[in-house]
Amino acid sequence: MNIENMRRILDKIKEYDRIIIFRHKRPDGDAVGSTKGLREILRLTYPEKEVLLLNADYSDYVSFLGDEDAPVDDEYYATALGIVIDTATSDRISNPKYALCREIVRIDHHIDNKPYTEISWVEEEKSSSCEMIAEFYYTFRDELKINKEAATYIYTGMVTDSGRFRFRSVSGDTMRYAGMLLDQGVDVDHIYAHLYMKDYKNLRFHGYVLSKIKMTENGVAYLYVDHRMQKKFGLSMEEASASVSYMDSIKDSLIWLAFIEGPGDEIRVRLRSRFVTCNELAEAWGGGGHDCAAGATLHNKKDVKTLLAQADERLKNYKENNEGWL
Ligand code: AMP
Repeated sequence: MNIENMRRILDKIKEYDRIIIFRHKRPDGDAVGSTKGLREILRLTYPEKEVLLLNADYSDYVSFLGDEDAPVDDEYYATALGIVIDTATSDRISNPKYALCREIVRIDHHIDNKPYTEISWVEEEKSSSCEMIAEFYYTFRDELKINKEAATYIYTGMVTDSGRFRFRSVSGDTMRYAGMLLDQGVDVDHIYAHLYMKDYKNLRFHGYVLSKIKMTENGVAYLYVDHRMQKKFGLSMEEASASVSYMDSIKDSLIWLAFIEGPGDEIRVRLRSRFVTCNELAEAWGGGGHDCAAGATLHNKKDVKTLLAQADERLKNYKENNEGWL
């Protein structure tokens, strides 16, 4: 089934002279790496085709991967095949003009609640969309081309979305594809330097915010990053949102949440967990995500409190009914 879907996607790519690649809003390493990686593979393989990556927002975090394509006129879309990668629902697609494409296909590792394309290749158990792009290349390696640049994009997304190859979704295949990419000459030192280096202001924010982490009765760690804090440290929302990872190694705390005030009344919540799942909590608030990494948007502090109580209850139940957690 998956191989059939992969083949259908490759056939569509061959059919079109113009291909536009899309990803989700507020892109992360996987969204950027998978889309740039596929663009590079297609440009190398089919130099006669026009292959563009057209999105409406960008990521500072992985900006070291280079520039994006400049916007084009609306007419341009009408004759194109759109390929949407790493995006669970159509309203999360960064560039709303995707809808102008003649046809769209989807490649994703997010839960398929509301399919929005006729042709799609979705595998929830894959560690990243980048892993799927690596597999796509490997499956059709007699027809497709890859180089160090493409391998670097894809490897970066695999590294970031798998928590540096630490999450359970990492399989033998993940490592085999990572190995194949390294064989292309990927400079891991360069990638990790970019991923770990911090601006001084981010480091100061990190130090400050550690003292603001709170804990619910049963061990849900959380942080509330309001506009004032973001202003004080001169942070973008993306930078402030990174604070969720500061809570990822607290013993006894199997669920941790970062609330980040956004535009208007929006409060973005990033949910993370270990052993116990947290995506149901996000879904109950109109969001979604993976078992142990999910997100949603809230609109007032009362909802923040309610969500915290729900997370606390979930963790309490988990601890009462399971052993062996840390
Ligand atoms: P984030 O905290 O933004 O890194 O999101 C973690 C996961 O949850 C990602 O796979 C997102 O696709 C998903 N996610 C985040 N926010 C939302 C949302 N508002 N609706 C649906 N899925 C979301």
